[in-house]
Amino acid sequence: MILYCDLDVKLLEELGDGYMDYPWPRPPWCPRCKSPRLWGHGYVDRYFDESKKALVMRRYRCPDCGAVHTLRPRFYDRRFQVIWFTIFLSLLKKITFGGWLAGWSRQRQQYWWRGFRKHASRKQNFTPETALSIFVTLFEAEHLLGTHSLTYYERTPLGGPPHRRFAATFPCGVG
Ligand SMILES: [Zn+2]
Repeated sequence: MILYCDLDVKLLEELGDGYMDYPWPRPPWCPRCKSPRLWGHGYVDRYFDESKKALVMRRYRCPDCGAVHTLRPRFYDRRFQVIWFTIFLSLLKKITFGGWLAGWSRQRQQYWWRGFRKHASRKQNFTPETALSIFVTLFEAEHLLGTHSLTYYERTPLGGPPHRRFAATFPCGVG
C-alpha cells in the first residue's frame, strides 16, 4: 500500500546518498491488518517533477500479513510525477473553459482527462452539464483525479489504531 505523508522533497534531494539520515515517519501500525509490528524494508526510487533525479522512498513490511508499504509525498498521487493540484487545475479548466492548461503538455493533460472521464462515467451519466458536479464529488471523496486505475483510486485515512492512546500520531493517508 502507499502511505501519503508529509515528506520534504527538496530536503530529500539535498540529502542525496544521505537519505538514511532523513527523519522518515514510521506508521504506528500496519494499515492493512493493524499489526503494531512493522519492519524496515529498504528503499525504492521514485521520480517527481520537482526533482531532477530519482528520490528514494522508505518502505516498511508487515511480518504478520506480508504487506509492503511505501511512503510517498502527500502531494503526489500514486504513479504521478506531477503534484495533484496541477491535475486538479487542468481538469477544472477543461470542464469550465474547454481548454488545456498552459505550460503542460497536451498529451499529459489528455491522459489525466481520460482517467477522470473513466471514473466520472462510473459515477453517473457524464455530460458537459454533469461534469463539474461529478468532479467536485470525486474530489471530496479524496479520489486520485486523473488516475486510470480501477483498484487504487482513493486516498483514505490511515484508519483506527488498535489502541486509542496511539491515535493521531501518524497523520497520513493510505491508498
Ligand atoms: Zn499487516
